[in-house]
Amino acid sequence: MADCIFCAIVGGDIPATVVAEDDEVLAFKDIDPQAPVHVLVISKRHLANTAASAEDDERLLGHVLRVGCRVAREAGVGESGFRLVLNNGPDAGEAVNHLHLHVLGGRGLGWPPG
Ligand code: 5GP
Ligand code: ZN
Repeated sequence: MADCIFCAIVGGDIPATVVAEDDEVLAFKDIDPQAPVHVLVISKRHLANTAASAEDDERLLGHVLRVGCRVAREAGVGESGFRLVLNNGPDAGEAVNHLHLHVLGGRGLGWPPG
């Protein structure tokens, strides 16, 4: 999609530190990490966010979650714990309207989130 930062990363037009990739998803380090481990898992296909998903996207959403868990394990926080976050809309602080799962870990994460 034009003017989408994450589509530009998928297309190779904006560089990113990629940690995992397959036909459907790309995982790369967040440019402004909020924890020692902060990776984004995005769909390669443009989808605005979880709330905009359709029934046909259920397999993709499940895949994104499972890749997030694998990324966390490979980053060494599988046992210590990690958080998977899907922001939807302004009150949640969603800034990029392209489906992305935050994988956060490597420190104690407060609850409830801010
Ligand atoms: P949101 O607030 O939309 O849930 O999260 C968007 C995330 O994307 C933020 O954590 C932000 O730091 C990250 N981000 C925004 N632009 C870029 C970029 O160009 N490269 C990378 N690697 N991360 C980005
Ligand atoms: Zn996009």
